[in-house]
Amino acid sequence: MTRTLLRGGTLVSSVEETRADLLIDGERIVAVGLELDAGDATVVDVTGCALLPGGIDTHTHFEHMVASGATRTADDFTSGSIAALCGGTTTVVDFVRAPADTGIRDAFLRRRDRAAESIATDFGLHPMATAAVSDAASIAELQRLATEEGATSWKFFMAYPGSMVGDDVLLAGFRAAAEVGALPMVHAENGHMVADAIARLVADGRVDPTQHVHGHPGAAEAEAIQRAAALAKHAGSELFVVHVSAAEAVDALVRLRDEGQRIGAETCPQYVGAAADAAHVTGALAAGFVCSPPIREAANQEAIWRGIEQRVLHTIGTDHAAFTLAQPEDLPPQKVVHDDFTRVPNGVPGVEERLMVMHELGVRRGRFPLTRFVDLVAAEPARRFGLERKGSLAPGKDADVVVWDPAATRTLRASELHSRSDYCVYEGLEVHGTPRSVWRRGTLVAEHGEPVGELAGTGAYQYRSTTTPTEAR
Ligand code: MN
Ligand code: MN
Repeated sequence: MTRTLLRGGTLVSSVEETRADLLIDGERIVAVGLELDAGDATVVDVTGCALLPGGIDTHTHFEHMVASGATRTADDFTSGSIAALCGGTTTVVDFVRAPADTGIRDAFLRRRDRAAESIATDFGLHPMATAAVSDAASIAELQRLATEEGATSWKFFMAYPGSMVGDDVLLAGFRAAAEVGALPMVHAENGHMVADAIARLVADGRVDPTQHVHGHPGAAEAEAIQRAAALAKHAGSELFVVHVSAAEAVDALVRLRDEGQRIGAETCPQYVGAAADAAHVTGALAAGFVCSPPIREAANQEAIWRGIEQRVLHTIGTDHAAFTLAQPEDLPPQKVVHDDFTRVPNGVPGVEERLMVMHELGVRRGRFPLTRFVDLVAAEPARRFGLERKGSLAPGKDADVVVWDPAATRTLRASELHSRSDYCVYEGLEVHGTPRSVWRRGTLVAEHGEPVGELAGTGAYQYRSTTTPTEAR
C-alpha cells in the first residue's frame, strides 16, 4: 500500500491544535506524532500549514430534480463533488426524493447506484419523507433503510405545498426514527405562512426576485422549529433543523435548548456571507440569490453568529443546489426568468466555497478559533450523522486530510470555481487561508484548488451508524 507522511504541520481537532506529523498507510491514518519513522513513505513537507479533517457537508443537492419535475440542478454528482474536493470537502450527504410512482427504498437504491458510479467524494444519503411518501409502508421502509443501508437520518418537509407533511406524519416519523436510532431532520418553515406571504406579494404585483425574501417571514421558521420540537419531545426523538436563517429561529433554538430539548441545527455560509439587501443584488443576480429559506437582510447575520457562539447552531452545511443564470444547451431550464421569483428555481451554489468563506468570516474576523471551525465543518457533522470513520485525524480514521495554508490569499470568483453554476454569491470576497492539498482516503485528490487525476466514480458510500435508540437510554 502507498504510505505518505505529512511532515511539519499542525493537527487541528475540535478541541486543540497540536504540532504533529501524520502518517497515512493506504486509506487510513496509522500514526500521528513527532519524529515518526518515515520508512518507505513518501514525505510531503507541510511546514506552516494546518492539517484539518476533510470537510463534511451534510446538505448538498447534486443532480437533483425539483419537486415539479420541471428541471434539474446544474451540478451532477461528478461536477458537484469535484467542486467539493477542490474546496476541501471530502464527504457529502445528499438527499433522495422518491418520485410519486416509486417507493422510497427503490428510489434510494437507484440513486445510490447512480452516485457510486459518478461521484468523487465519499457520500451518504438522507431519504426524504414527502406528502406522497409518508404512509405507514413508507415509514417502515425508512426504518429498513436505516438498519440495513446505514441511511440513519431522514428529512421531513414542513414547507412547500405538495411536499410538506402534517403533524400526524411528523409524529409517526419521529417515533419511527426514535425506535431505530435515526435522526429526523426538518426543513422548518410553516408552509401555510409562506404560501400566504407569497400569495400577498403576487396579488400586489411584487414578484421581482428582490421581493422573494418577503415571502419567507422569519416567524414562519420559528413557528416550525417550535412545533417540530414539541412533536419530537412527544415522540421521544432527537431533532435536527437544517438551514437556519432567521433571527427569530435562533431565539427559538436558544429557548428550546434552555428547556433541555435535544435539538441540533445547521446554518449555511450564505446566511452569514451574503445579504438580500446588498446594493449589488439586483437583476439577474437577485434571481441567483433566490433560495429557501431566503438569504435575508444583513441585520440577520449577527443573530446567526450569536447562534453559533451560543452553540445552538452546530454544523455548517451548504444546501448546495446550483443553477445557472445563463441557459446551457445540455441542461433543463435554469434560472432563466429574471423578473418573477415565483418562476425561479430555488437554490444557490456554495459547496466549494464553504470552508474558505467560514474560515474568513469566522476565524479570520475573530468570531471563533480554528478548533471551532473544524468542529462546525467536519467534527460535528461526522458525530451527528454517524460518520464514524470521518471528522478527526486519529489513527484508524480514514485519511481524509486538508492541508490548509493560512498564508495563501485568493479572491473568490465564479469563473475559477468548479460548480457548473455561473455565479458566486461571494463574488469578489478576498479570503486568507485556502486548501493547499486535499487527500481523500489517502489519495491526493486536489491541489491548489484544482482536481488531481480521474476522480469520477471514486467516492465510496458510507454506511452511517445510528444514535442510541431512545428505549436504550
Ligand atoms: Mn430545504
Ligand atoms: Mn436543501
